[in-house]
Amino acid sequence: MSMRQPVFILSDDSEVTRGKDAQENNINAAKAVSGAVRTTLGPKGMDKMLVDTLGDIVITNDGVTILEEMDIEHPAAKMVVQVAETQEDEVGDGTTTAVAIAGELLKQSEDLLEQDVHPTIIASGLRQASQKCQELLNQEIAKNVSIEDEERLRKVAETAMTGKGAESARDELREITVNAIKSVADETEDGYQVDIDNIKIEKKVGGRAQDTQLVDGMIIDKEKVHPGMPDSVENAKIALISAPIEHKETEVDAEIQITNPDQLQQFLDEEEKMLKKLVNKIKESGANVVFCQKGIDDMAQHYLAKEGILAVRRAKKSDLKKLARATGGNVVSNIDEIEPSDLGQAGTVKEKKVSNESMLFVEECKNPRSVSILVRGGTEHVVDEVERALDDSVKVVGVAVEDGKVVAGGGAPEVELAHRLREYAASVGGREQLAVEAFANALEIVPRTLAENAGLDPIDALVDLRSKHEAGETEKGLNVYDGEVIDMWEAGVVEPLRVKTQAVDSASETATMVLRIDDVITAATGDSGDEPEAPGGPGGGMPGAGGMPGGMGGMGGMM
Ligand code: ADP
Ligand code: MG
Repeated sequence: MSMRQPVFILSDDSEVTRGKDAQENNINAAKAVSGAVRTTLGPKGMDKMLVDTLGDIVITNDGVTILEEMDIEHPAAKMVVQVAETQEDEVGDGTTTAVAIAGELLKQSEDLLEQDVHPTIIASGLRQASQKCQELLNQEIAKNVSIEDEERLRKVAETAMTGKGAESARDELREITVNAIKSVADETEDGYQVDIDNIKIEKKVGGRAQDTQLVDGMIIDKEKVHPGMPDSVENAKIALISAPIEHKETEVDAEIQITNPDQLQQFLDEEEKMLKKLVNKIKESGANVVFCQKGIDDMAQHYLAKEGILAVRRAKKSDLKKLARATGGNVVSNIDEIEPSDLGQAGTVKEKKVSNESMLFVEECKNPRSVSILVRGGTEHVVDEVERALDDSVKVVGVAVEDGKVVAGGGAPEVELAHRLREYAASVGGREQLAVEAFANALEIVPRTLAENAGLDPIDALVDLRSKHEAGETEKGLNVYDGEVIDMWEAGVVEPLRVKTQAVDSASETATMVLRIDDVITAATGDSGDEPEAPGGPGGGMPGAGGMPGGMGGMGGMM
């Protein structure tokens, strides 16, 4: 056992990038990502056209959507993408802001690295600055908002939707958003809880975006299976069935040999009896409405219609789940076992025509915290855009109601934080002070970018903003339409506090993480199970496929 054997901890084909090179490389990658989405920030931000390998096109200025579609490979760049993903998960808005701040923090830190400030000192300064920001945001900058303060909540909705393309229907959409959130908000001991899963967004092309409406209950994009069924059922008792209402499948490859007409008749009778039995089971349970996830045999349809039962087939699994929640029923997989207690309840189930297509409206559900928004618009593109805008506005108003706190927008909180951080920096002292100042500079990327994207002079805007904030005008932000520096509360530009606290938090955490990496070791190909992410099927990409792909862990650990 020789002690002199060299120890190989890496295989020959592993690649190592060391020290300054590694840092520079990581920072550049992260900055590149941040730069790519930054041009979309604010009401005047540009859109990106994303084209996938099949040629499908998405036009959006939604930060997280852009980053998810960009197919980013570089590990440090991926960390920035994660900032956007976290922001999306935690708040649902502010993704571009968070990514812009992360990129700028790294850029500012790079300058300090060049002045030979050690990365751990920078990291420590950034952390202190970030904590200070949380304190300032929570205790001094934010204002309270109550669920009754509808006017302010409407402003929150409006701010989130500004620049998202659904502008023609702005007034209607913000109204719908606030009403929807008020319906689903649940009062608890410490404030409100908002589960936006209780808000179902359903789209139907046709009409105008302004015709988008809030429905008290659920909308299912299906029609009754048989014309003989009622169009509307009062006092609905709803069976939710995940099994087919069909004769049992014959065994795989089984053949039924029929040699004379009697046998055929007998076989058909048998089948009919079986179907009748299934329908009887349903009827006996007391159901007068059936949502079936699978098919319903013609014969069974006929029997159901005869019993006056309104039935829908091939309902989406997710809709069944939501119906269960909304109506208080259970999804049943075996029809033989259906019990009255499995049935959901609703005041009415009605088939209504929407743009010449029938949809089912399940209203006055047992659980009153269940609403739907029926999105309308002239083209597929418009309904999609309205849906995305609503998605954002519903999330931010929900967050504002939960936290009960909002801040002004238009760069006001960022400029105020920067101003206060510069004051605070002196008390930090040492070289960490430089990092706190760098943090202050980095936050100003928000107003600078808002100005830039609006075709205004970013330096003029910043000078103006800074001087106002130094004079104690803490709510002044940038009017992106005319370049004036104005009071953002008066202008009605309002965001949930969480947009800012989360953006600052994850941006600084990520910047620190990137800074502390001094070696990048690329695993040799083939011997690690961590294949790069599968090229997520174009078009039908996996939703929510977040997570930090392989390689990161190894990097983070190399301090
Ligand atoms: P994000 O992905 O960060 O939400 P957005 O493109 O939605 O990016 O832009 C958000 C920024 O635009 C915030 O700083 C917000 O305060 C600002 N903003 C929104 N509406 C206005 C407005 N009417 N005037 C000025 N700034 C606005
Ligand atoms: Mg936004």
